[in-house]
Amino acid sequence: MKESEPLAAVVAPGRPVRRIDYAAIKHDLDIVQYVSYYVSLHRAGRNPRGLCPFHSEKTPSFYVFPDKGNYHCFGCGAHGDVLDFLDAMGVDWRRRA
Ligand SMILES: [Zn+2]
Repeated sequence: MKESEPLAAVVAPGRPVRRIDYAAIKHDLDIVQYVSYYVSLHRAGRNPRGLCPFHSEKTPSFYVFPDKGNYHCFGCGAHGDVLDFLDAMGVDWRRRA
């Protein structure tokens, strides 16, 4: 995949399926930025946290770990990387990106 090539070109119907470099995609996506579209994050120490979008809670137990590139909820155990998060939010990033 060329750097300038949109993801849509990689997975477009009718084109041969190529291996997608998910690591490179994730590297390019700032997890804090994307999560903050959906969750109001507050900086509390090293890692931002907010109310978990996956379960109902009043005190934030949803943490984003920018260094690791993932998120974890200590309330419900939701865990994943930025692409997992977008999947969970119903974002079709494979076509949209
Ligand atoms: Zn949760």
